[in-house]
Amino acid sequence: MNVQKFDLYLEPQNLTELYSLTAEWGSRARIIAGGTDLLVRLKQRTCKPEVLISLKKVKELNEILSKDDGVSIGAAVKLSDLIASPVISEDYPLLVEAALKVGAYQHRSMGTLGGNLCLETRCLYFNQSEFLRESLSVCLKAGGTVCHAVNAQKCFAVYSGDTAPALLALGAKVRIGSLSGERWEELRNIYTGAALNPISLKDGEVLTGVFIGKESAKAGGAYSKLAERISTDFPSLGVAASITLSDRKICQRASLALTAAGPAPFLVEEARNLVGAEQLTEALLEPILKEANKLAVMVKNKTINTGYRRAMIKKMVPAALEMAWEKAMGIKGGCCCNE
Ligand SMILES: Cc1cc2nc3c(=O)[nH]c(=O)nc-3n(C[C@H](O)[C@H](O)[C@H](O)COP(=O)(O)OP(=O)(O)OC[C@H]3O[C@@H](n4cnc5c(N)ncnc54)[C@H](O)[C@@H]3O)c2cc1C
Repeated sequence: MNVQKFDLYLEPQNLTELYSLTAEWGSRARIIAGGTDLLVRLKQRTCKPEVLISLKKVKELNEILSKDDGVSIGAAVKLSDLIASPVISEDYPLLVEAALKVGAYQHRSMGTLGGNLCLETRCLYFNQSEFLRESLSVCLKAGGTVCHAVNAQKCFAVYSGDTAPALLALGAKVRIGSLSGERWEELRNIYTGAALNPISLKDGEVLTGVFIGKESAKAGGAYSKLAERISTDFPSLGVAASITLSDRKICQRASLALTAAGPAPFLVEEARNLVGAEQLTEALLEPILKEANKLAVMVKNKTINTGYRRAMIKKMVPAALEMAWEKAMGIKGGCCCNE
């Protein structure tokens, strides 16, 4: 399958050039980072930009900078470099655990953190070749009038990135840049919650970096992933948990985030009520599970059965929280296995 033709491939050398080009080309251009998702979409004709603007040569976007209060990661840092970074693996093992579960080695060695966070929503009916897509009437996400997953006039495509829930659980912020300046946003704010236009960045804006505040030495994190093929597949559900304990082993901070359970990754706010607890109990887990289930939107648009995916929330949420808690206690060093 050939890549959809485009007119120009541009390689800005610095942020000023990048912002000028994104402003000049607006909606006619697409940012290309590692291209591991975008190139597949160009082949499948689900995206038809006239211009590709690469982030490869912009030095500022390719650095990991350790700071007194945390770490700053350029949007174009490759997942494999993130995984290999001593700073990240030492201080933010939850991010490494999630990044290691992205696709196969080849995807991680080309794919970037920014590209992972800015993934388009996916659907069994949309992410197909043009030929297969058109064997049914064109779906809503591809410009038609109906979502085939639910046979209704609302799109239900799913955000399916692995690193977003880990970064949400870690309370990360993202930097957005454009010709009009730069600003920091909570990561959650870049997701609109609308499957048709899932990322809130405006034309001309680029996600330039991620900042994660310093983690306590008594923090533990875990990422649990459900996928059809463990070796290389998008999540059909992903659960990230982060727990910080005090010296007296009392929970000081708790967060939980899900991916592949709707058009945006999301935080389960109930998890904060674990603060003050000495251990995870059924009674504490119950409202967390209730909220996770309420927020999860699951319809027939993944290969894994919808009922099974929903049932796995009940298994994976406690598993991730328990694993994170044990790591915070210093009991376990491993990672949550793929389900
Ligand atoms: C077979 C296969 C398996 C995969 N499995 C997984 C998986 O298990 N988990 C997973 O999370 N992903 C998976 N992926 C998707 C992809 O490989 C990763 O998500 C990767 O991290 C994407 O990064 P990239 O740099 O290649 O993004 P690109 O393909 O370059 O870009 C992706 C999207 O983000 C936009 N974009 C990129 N960078 C920026 C930026 N800085 N600012 C604004 N917009 C930007 C692009 O315009 C594009 O729309 C898989 C892909 C394939 C083909």
